Amino acid sequence: MELKKPLTEIPGIGQSFLRKLKKMGIQTIKDLLFHFPHRYEDFSRIIPIKTAAVNQIVCFRGRILDIENTTTLRRRMVLTQAIIEDETGAIKVVWFNQPYLIRVIRKGEEYFLAGKVALGEDGLYLSNPAFEKVSKTKGSETIHTGRLVPVYPETEGLSSKWLRSILFPLLKKIVPKIKDSLPEEIRKQYRLLPIDKALWQIHFPQSLELAQKAQERFSFEELFYIQVLVLQERLKTQQQRAFSIPLNLELIKSFVKNLPFELTDAQRKAIWHILNDLQKSRPMNRLLEGDVGSGKTAVATAGILMTVKAGYQAVLMVPTEVLSKQHFQEINKLLKNFRVSIGLLTSKENKTISNGRIEKISKRKILEQIKNGEVDLIIGTHALIQKNVEFKKLALVIIDEQHRFGVEQRAKLSKNKDIIPHLLSMTATPIPRTLALTLYGDLDLSLLDELPKGRKKVITKIIPPVRREEVYQFIREEVGKGRQAFIICPRIEPSEESGEKDLLSLDTKSVKEEFKRLSENVFPDLQLGMLHGKMEPSEKEMVMTKFRDREFDVLISTSVIEVGIDVPNATVMVIEGAERFGLAQLHQFRGRVGRSDFQSYCFLFTDSPAKKTRQRLQALISLNDGFKLAEKDLEIRGPGSLFGVKQWGIPDLAMKSLRNIKLVEKTRLAASQILEKDPELRSYPLLKKKIEEARREIHLE
Ligand code: ADP
Ligand code: MG
Repeated sequence: MELKKPLTEIPGIGQSFLRKLKKMGIQTIKDLLFHFPHRYEDFSRIIPIKTAAVNQIVCFRGRILDIENTTTLRRRMVLTQAIIEDETGAIKVVWFNQPYLIRVIRKGEEYFLAGKVALGEDGLYLSNPAFEKVSKTKGSETIHTGRLVPVYPETEGLSSKWLRSILFPLLKKIVPKIKDSLPEEIRKQYRLLPIDKALWQIHFPQSLELAQKAQERFSFEELFYIQVLVLQERLKTQQQRAFSIPLNLELIKSFVKNLPFELTDAQRKAIWHILNDLQKSRPMNRLLEGDVGSGKTAVATAGILMTVKAGYQAVLMVPTEVLSKQHFQEINKLLKNFRVSIGLLTSKENKTISNGRIEKISKRKILEQIKNGEVDLIIGTHALIQKNVEFKKLALVIIDEQHRFGVEQRAKLSKNKDIIPHLLSMTATPIPRTLALTLYGDLDLSLLDELPKGRKKVITKIIPPVRREEVYQFIREEVGKGRQAFIICPRIEPSEESGEKDLLSLDTKSVKEEFKRLSENVFPDLQLGMLHGKMEPSEKEMVMTKFRDREFDVLISTSVIEVGIDVPNATVMVIEGAERFGLAQLHQFRGRVGRSDFQSYCFLFTDSPAKKTRQRLQALISLNDGFKLAEKDLEIRGPGSLFGVKQWGIPDLAMKSLRNIKLVEKTRLAASQILEKDPELRSYPLLKKKIEEARREIHLE
C-alpha cells in the first residue's frame, strides 16, 4: 500500500532533497516514517521571559517588537537581532548569518522561540533559537517549539527542522491507514504501543517516557520478526527426516579409551549432545562452538565413528586443502583401531586410507568408492559439493569454519533427498548469547568452554612504536631456537593516494610494504613468506604448506590467516594496527600460536595514543575467553563489528537491540508462542506478510 510508494508522492520534496534522502537509504514513504530521531530537545515548558537565566534551555511565547540585520565589523558576520516581549518582560534575540530571517520573522507577530539563553555585553539574550509562528487556528500544534522536539541524526543539507516539517503532515495523513503487523495478543502481553501511537510518539512525543515506549515497541518488533523467521526455519528442519543412528555404548567407551588424551568435561558433554541427536529420526542441527585448540575434532570424530559403524557415511567439509589434509591425518590417528575407511577429496588430490594403508587414487575411482559405499568418511573441501559426488548412505555432515555454519552446504550435499543428513557445524568464532538466540536460533548449541589441561597461556603485550625493535630482536631469538612467527597487517596494498581522508589508515601497515621492508632491512637473513586474500587459492595453499613445513621463518599475512592452519611450531604472533581489529578477531589471531608445549607470545602493535583503544586492547591481556571478548566487542562496537553480521541486511534497530539480552529473550518467547499456536501464521496474515518481506531482506549466509 501507500508505505511502499516513492517519496515523490509527498508534496514539498524537491529533486535535491530526494537525492540527499536517497544517500541515506531513504527512498519510500516507509523509509522516511522509520527514520527515527536520535534524541529530543525539551522545549515543552513555555516560561515567562522574566524568569530566564543564563545557560538555560527555554521556550518563550511572545511578540516580536523589532527585528533588523547588522554586520559585525571584525568578523564580517551578519547578525539578525530582534526583541521579543511577553507579559512579563522582553529579551534580545540573536541569529547568526541568516540574514533572510528578517523576511521570515515579522515584526508585531506572535512567535514561539526556543533555544539557549546566553550572556552578552549588554545582558541576557536568546542565541540562535528555533522559531515558530503562533497559529491563530485553535488546537493546532507546534512542531519545532513548545514541545519535545525531535532531533534527527545529522546529515548534510537535511536539517531536523526540514524533516519535522515533512514528517508532521505525513504522519497526519498516513498513520490512520497503517495496520499493525504485530499481533494484538503479543502487544497486550508485552505492553507494547500500537503502531499508530508508536509512530507519533517516536517522532513527536508527549513525554520522554512515551518516546521510550515507542522505541521499545519498534525494537521489540524488529527482533520479533527475526525470531519468527528463524524459528520457522527450525520447525521446517524438524519436520524433515534423517537416519536414526543407534547409540553404541561399547563403541564410544572404547573410542574414549583409545584417545591419546583425557577428554575435557566440555568435550564429553558435547559428544553426549551429539550422540543423543543422532539417535533421532529428525535431523540434528547443531553448532559446536569452541576456542581454537579446544578440541573440536575429537568431538566430531566421536559422532563420525558412531555413524559409520552403524553402516552410514559421514562427510567432513573444511575451507582449505591444507586443513583437509590436516584433518585427514589427525582423524586417521584417532580412528586407527576402528577400521574406518577414510577418503580425501579435494580438487587437486585424492587419497584413501583403509586398513591403515594410505593410497593416492584418481578422482574417478574415489567418486566410485563414495558412491558404492566403500569409503565411510569423506574429508574434503568445496570439491565435495560438486554435482558428480554421490553418496551411498550419507547420514552425517560436519562442516568446519563456514559462515552461517553450513546450513546451505548441507542442503547441497543432501541433493533433495527425502532423508537429509544430520548437521554438525564447528566454529571457533565466538557467538555472544544474544546472537545465538536470534541469528543462530535455528541451531542448537554445544560449547567447548574449557581448554584441555596443561595449555600454556599465550603471553600478550601491547607494544608502543618505540619498542618495535625489541620485538624484532625477540623474533630473531625465537627463530634461533627453531620457532616461527606470524606478522598480521591490516591491509594488502599501501593506502592509495586518492586523497583518502581516513587519517587512521595513513599509517596502516600493508602486507606488501611490510614484506619488502622486513625482508630488506630487518630480517635479510631469515626466510619470509607473504599471504593475502588477493592471491590465487593455489598460491595461498602453497605458502601455507611451506610455512607449516618450516621453509619460512616468518609469515606476513592479512587476516586471511584467521581460519588458518595448525602450525604448532609457531610461537610469536605480531599484530600491526591492532586497534583496527575487533577483540574477538584478535583473539582468533592469538589462537594461531600457543598450540604446543612451547611458551607463546602475542604482541599487539598500536600507534594509537587514545586511551579508549588501549583500554579495549587491555581486555585481551586480562581475558582469555573468546566468548567474553565477543560480548565486550558487542558492547563497545556493536554487532556490526562481529563476523559477517553487517552483510546480512538486518535492520539498524534490530542490530542495536541485539545488545539487549532481555529483549532478545522476550522476543524469542513471543515468537515461539505464536508459532506454537499457528506455525503457518494462517490467522496472522499481516505478520505473515512481514515475515515474507523479512525473508527476502535478511539473508543469513
Ligand atoms: P580445534 O577446536 O581448534 O579444532 P583441535 O581439535 O584441532 O582443536 O585440537 C587441538 C589439539 O588439541 C589437537 O592436537 C588435539 O589432539 C588436542 N586435544 C584435543 N582434545 C584434547 C584433550 N582433551 N586433551 C589434550 N589434548 C587435546
Ligand atoms: Mg579445528
